[in-house]
Amino acid sequence: ETTRTPLMAGNWKMNLNHLEAIAHVQKLAFALTDKDYDAVEVAVLPPFTDLRSVQTLVDGDKLRIRYGAQDISAHDSGAYTGEVSGPMLSKLKCTYTAIGHSERRQYHGETEEIVNAKVKAAFRNGIVPILCVGEGLDVRKAGNQVSHTLAQVDGALAEVPAADAERIVIAYEPVWAIGTGEVATPEDAQEVCGAIRARLAELYDADLASRVRILYGGSVKSSNAAGIMAKPDVDGALIGGAALDPEEFVKIVRYRE
Ligand code: PEP
Repeated sequence: ETTRTPLMAGNWKMNLNHLEAIAHVQKLAFALTDKDYDAVEVAVLPPFTDLRSVQTLVDGDKLRIRYGAQDISAHDSGAYTGEVSGPMLSKLKCTYTAIGHSERRQYHGETEEIVNAKVKAAFRNGIVPILCVGEGLDVRKAGNQVSHTLAQVDGALAEVPAADAERIVIAYEPVWAIGTGEVATPEDAQEVCGAIRARLAELYDADLASRVRILYGGSVKSSNAAGIMAKPDVDGALIGGAALDPEEFVKIVRYRE
């Protein structure tokens, strides 16, 4: 039997400057206990400019909170003005980086090829990708959410060997549920998360598929987290808006209580 440690990851998006980040992480640190960390892995994804401050807190107090970036360059160095590289993130001891968030795909033109290159850049630098996939409203209305999302998984994992892929985290985030207050039903989340796991078994093998964590994201809050987490192929959540309130985020971490 495989036991996948649930992951609750807070995507702060473009919110909280470094002083606010310090205050926020301190609140999480005071609230969370070993009992919480033993049950659930807790991670925050702050803006790049906050990462050094978060690292200092986590290192200094040996906090069990993990952290990562919201994006990574496909390139390791060079003439890429404004980009932040994998070596820079790994120097800051980032565990994770989100890749291919719908806001990156929508507003920054991230194609399947770019997402694939960023996944490879993360692995090359020892950083675990939180690969974001999911359909828009038009695709959902046409009933094509599974094929659409699996095509994104295929694209992101092209030429990624099993030794890397076994470490990936995949977040199923239906675009129509992100920041809208309209959460997917647990059944909707399970349908696509289950299909993603089955595709991982096809692309690699059943053992690898059984070990990869698949998150749901889209208007998760403390009042709906338990219902979604009860589904067999949902191993955690990527949380946007609700993660900006430390008390609410801690309640989501304690979804079992
Ligand atoms: C997200 O940004 O990944 C997200 C799921 O946002 P929200 O929880 O606000 O819908």
